[in-house]
Amino acid sequence: MENIMAKIDLSNISHSYNPNDDKPIYALNPFSMTWENGKRYAILGPSGCGKTTMLNIVSGLVKPTKGEILFDEKNVTNLQTESRNISQVFQFPVIYNTMTVYDNLAFPLRCRGFSNEKIEERVKSVSDTLNLSSFLNSPARKLTADQKQLISLGRGLVREDVAAVLMDEPLTVIDPDLKFRLRRNLKEINEQYKTTLVYVTHDQNEAMTFADNIIVMDQGEIVQVGLPKDLFERPQTTFVGYFIGSPAMNIFETTVCSDYEVKLNDLNIKTQSNLSSLKDKKVKLGIRSEFIKLVTNENENTLKIKLKRVEDFGNFKLLTGITGNKVIKSKVNREEPIPDGEVNLYFPPDKCCVYSDEKLV
Ligand code: ATP
Repeated sequence: MENIMAKIDLSNISHSYNPNDDKPIYALNPFSMTWENGKRYAILGPSGCGKTTMLNIVSGLVKPTKGEILFDEKNVTNLQTESRNISQVFQFPVIYNTMTVYDNLAFPLRCRGFSNEKIEERVKSVSDTLNLSSFLNSPARKLTADQKQLISLGRGLVREDVAAVLMDEPLTVIDPDLKFRLRRNLKEINEQYKTTLVYVTHDQNEAMTFADNIIVMDQGEIVQVGLPKDLFERPQTTFVGYFIGSPAMNIFETTVCSDYEVKLNDLNIKTQSNLSSLKDKKVKLGIRSEFIKLVTNENENTLKIKLKRVEDFGNFKLLTGITGNKVIKSKVNREEPIPDGEVNLYFPPDKCCVYSDEKLV
């Protein structure tokens, strides 16, 4: 089977579903991006932010209002889905109920005239990966909702000769244990066959455990593209800080008080951001609860807080405290003794992110 994976370029793409109205609303604001051959991407963001629109523009189901899509430098913007050589998996099963599982999986290959031998090899490989081998001769209608979605996934993965496999919330109807295993299987498929996989989800855990590149979207904008580590440690906007991580990043209103410091309540907090151009300006200070340390002494960068709540999650404890009108959350080791009343929390300067107009300085 010829391997025709492609580099996918989205060049100055934007999209409105009502472009001819007096005031068109843009579901996607202009952006450019390249999806490299053979990588795993997750498109992550809340409902309505434009994830499906982006995916459908790549598959050809939606023609962008502006911009071009290139597969290996070839302009495919005006090509129909059928001519783009991509596979798609949707949120709910798209299968032929009267056909057997085998025939469902073989269908995309039969349509393209592959030999029976090749079909058998691919169906076996995909059905083994998806735990469908023992159902190959059953009519698809006899399977559970989970299993039907696995058939859909299998139909998406059975061809190796595609530019990319595009998946729109493909595991929503699958139970959580199986979901976890399937994400690992998808990773293995990607590593073994170098299939470019693009996975739309609103679930950060799904995105983090699946992708090596996460595209975070908010209201039609791509707000950050990066590795899970980048999104966690250096969120480029306060939105990413809130959206990624559990609990969300601590974000405080502060004022710049020197080249590298912000004032939080009465305390000067040292950061590693150069704030010289923002003197006396209001900025936000963001710090992950994982990076705030419980300390005994009140030294620099240490805030005294009134402890409101300690929640034991088994593998860690989550402290919630108050200082002035600000709520602070800090994750600490479960063995750590927690004093009653007031505690000191240390903010490591290299973990402090400063945001001006909601963007990382
Ligand atoms: P979800 O996670 O809920 O599927 P999404 O991030 O995939 O959301 P889209 O479905 O791409 O977001 O929608 C982006 C915006 O475009 C939303 O405001 C949506 O209401 C609007 N939209 C989507 N499809 C259409 C359509 N066919 N006609 C008009 N507006 C649409």
